[in-house]
Amino acid sequence: VNTEVDNPHTKALRGALERFWGYSDFRPLQREAMTAVMEGRDSVVVLPTGGGKSLCFQAPAVAMGGMALVVSPLIALMKDQVDTLRNCGVPAAYLNSTLSTDERRQVLDSVKSGKLKLLYVAPERLLLDGTLTMLANSNLSLAAIDEAHCISSWGHDFRPEYRGLARLKEVFPDIGVHAYTATATEAVREDIAKQLGLREPEMLVGSFDRPNLTYRVLAASGKLGQIAEVAKRHHGESGIVYCISRKEVEKTAAALEQLGIKAAPYHAGLGDEQRRRTQENFLNDRVEVIVATVAFGMGIDKPDVRFVVHAGMPKSLEAYQQEAGRAGRDGLPAECLLLFSRGDAATWKRIIESPTEEASPEAVAAALRALDGVSSYAGGVVCRHRALVEHFGQSLEGDDCGACDVCLSELDLVDDPLILAQKIISCVARLEQRYGADYTCKVLAGSSEEKITSRGHDRLSTYGLLKDCRTADIRGWIEQLVAQGHLVKAGEYGVLHITPKGLQLLKGEGNPQLLKAASNGASSSATGGSR
Ligand code: ADP
Ligand code: ZN
Repeated sequence: VNTEVDNPHTKALRGALERFWGYSDFRPLQREAMTAVMEGRDSVVVLPTGGGKSLCFQAPAVAMGGMALVVSPLIALMKDQVDTLRNCGVPAAYLNSTLSTDERRQVLDSVKSGKLKLLYVAPERLLLDGTLTMLANSNLSLAAIDEAHCISSWGHDFRPEYRGLARLKEVFPDIGVHAYTATATEAVREDIAKQLGLREPEMLVGSFDRPNLTYRVLAASGKLGQIAEVAKRHHGESGIVYCISRKEVEKTAAALEQLGIKAAPYHAGLGDEQRRRTQENFLNDRVEVIVATVAFGMGIDKPDVRFVVHAGMPKSLEAYQQEAGRAGRDGLPAECLLLFSRGDAATWKRIIESPTEEASPEAVAAALRALDGVSSYAGGVVCRHRALVEHFGQSLEGDDCGACDVCLSELDLVDDPLILAQKIISCVARLEQRYGADYTCKVLAGSSEEKITSRGHDRLSTYGLLKDCRTADIRGWIEQLVAQGHLVKAGEYGVLHITPKGLQLLKGEGNPQLLKAASNGASSSATGGSR
């Protein structure tokens, strides 16, 4: 504590926080991240959505002389941040394609006059010669790169235009470059530093658990009813509903309106003006629920969002953490519901594999793996907080988070899971651990498909062992056994292998947890089984 008082940087930062934002203290890791900026050391800062990344460069920008450069990928987000800064009394501006010639000239003038503290620039604009020259002639204090995972093809949201940001370090070798992201996997983190050419960057990785969020997963069945139930529970409060397609967005928003919930659609197909108005209405509580496409939610930033429902499956757990993480940014309780369906998984798979998407084979494989991570999460019967945090390479203390459907014992579990698990694992063994989940599921269900009979797998002792069960259930149980570490999916094709823990089950040791029905809400869609 003493060093804190003595450190002049800390003092200056605190002063800026209080004066411009009215905040009395730092959030976890903010002080460390800001200090790195003040000291001009490169940094990579990983904090979950809502962790307060923006302030990590904004406060130092105010406390330092000169102007900070901020690279941000989304135009909506940029305008938002600049408006917020101006409201706090911080001179800020942005350069992107939405500005008129006049507006652009005004911004350039204010850069020249040296009055700006922060300048936001879209990545493709930054690399234009004119922009670089202008920046070279200004008194740059630091460079901050928001959503920095976009530079990595390992990440879930690779943007080719981010690759050019490597030039920053070349053109401005004396200025600290700082990368901010909510994507924490080690590979991505290292790749960000490498791609940007950072020099011995300070790596700061915050805790990924969001203890104030309650996570639930339900099998999608009558999605509208399931969404409405959550929305009604939060009547008069703010919420976000994510869908995969624009059509679904429109339909859902209209249905919620019918129920007397003030809802509005939000997707890339709507005009800029309408989107801006919707966003403003949401911020001012004139709209309660925003229904958005998963692909287009990035710009929505409201601290008191009380629920986030994914009516469409997110394409990765990174995306889920980011989207669900828009709930409860103020630290107060909020709930996140994921409505899961294999159909959505298949839709994403089609999109990822479609030839119109220009992606390398590696990128496609990575995207499919990421998608599979969501299926495992949804099908898993392990604490949701734990599953998410472990996905990001961190661990959770304690056994019972008290804030997820698993720990709250809301799930309907099979009475004798050990025997069921043994049947499934035996089948994997009989198939000599050479097939994937879909194939194994078919053998257990006793499918008469030619690919099974031609290989003689209809003569295995485990063939048709679960023929009285529904295929969706069997498929779900396999995922649950994977999520609980009894099976693993290996290689490109996700071939099922039995882990030592799985072998223990065959000996009758261990306690797997399996859901009674993969679509546990199906028979009781009126209540949706939530709570
Ligand atoms: P991120 O970019 O990491 O998702 P933001 O920078 O948008 O998060 O911050 C999330 C919210 O937390 C914002 O409303 C922000 O004003 C608030 N916030 C950030 N830092 C602090 C702080 N030190 N004290 C209080 N509120 C903060
Ligand atoms: Zn839990």
